[in-house]
Amino acid sequence: MKNEIAIQLNGLRKNYGAKEAVKGIDLDIFRGELFVLVGANGAGKTSTLKMLTGLLKPTAGMIQICGLNLQQKTKEVKKLMSFVPDIPYIYEKLSPWEIIRFVGKLYEMDRGAIETRGKELLQFFSLWHVRDVLTEEFSHGMRQKTVLCAALVHNPEIFILDEPMVGLDPVSILDFKVFLKQKTKEGMTVIFSTHTLATAEELADRIAIMHQGRIVALGTLDELRTQYRSKENLEQMFMEMIKTEDTR
Ligand code: ATP
Repeated sequence: MKNEIAIQLNGLRKNYGAKEAVKGIDLDIFRGELFVLVGANGAGKTSTLKMLTGLLKPTAGMIQICGLNLQQKTKEVKKLMSFVPDIPYIYEKLSPWEIIRFVGKLYEMDRGAIETRGKELLQFFSLWHVRDVLTEEFSHGMRQKTVLCAALVHNPEIFILDEPMVGLDPVSILDFKVFLKQKTKEGMTVIFSTHTLATAEELADRIAIMHQGRIVALGTLDELRTQYRSKENLEQMFMEMIKTEDTR
């Protein structure tokens, strides 16, 4: 399963006026892979993820999702994926159930499938007991979990998340990690950004370290360890790599 390419990026660039935020990324991500992007503030992670989801137009480069060109087949590609931004928007005057039904209809799912899948997700994320409560009454973590349920209702092939663990309590984080592992085993491709290096270390099949708009290191944890021979953990490798890049 892990040699089937799910996402292919060639020469991906993003400029905001004179600012070169993403400076040419070539990358293949495989089906069923749990791929993690790490990097300091402003490294270009969010810009990259937003281009992958079609929310941000690249300045240059090509994005292929499941063999389809994102720029040419935007509608088809969007059906295959889901994106959870770092600060997600939520309809406060709706309950989790209403949000799930609304999103399911947007994806043209039939009612039975929405109900079955919605129930599964609400139970998994411990929101079943508050399924009919307006989300305006929810804590940050409960809202975050509602967003995750809505993002997953159509069972996307590709799931992209920007800083997904922020705001979740330790039990929810653990549940969510188990969930992501299970989903990737079933073939879902997951890409997320994080500042929590321990999470990347624990979960990722492969890690890309971004720095000033470029991927400066890429591989499994073991491959990165080999590359940075004396470094024990990702945090040390990350610090070393940033220092090296900054003195170039
Ligand atoms: P963080 O970890 O802080 O979220 P990031 O790695 O996600 O950072 P981006 O948000 O992609 O980084 O930003 C990359 C660079 O592009 C930064 O220098 C940022 O200031 C700049 N940038 C991002 N969005 C815009 C925008 N809309 N207009 C101008 N510059 C932008």
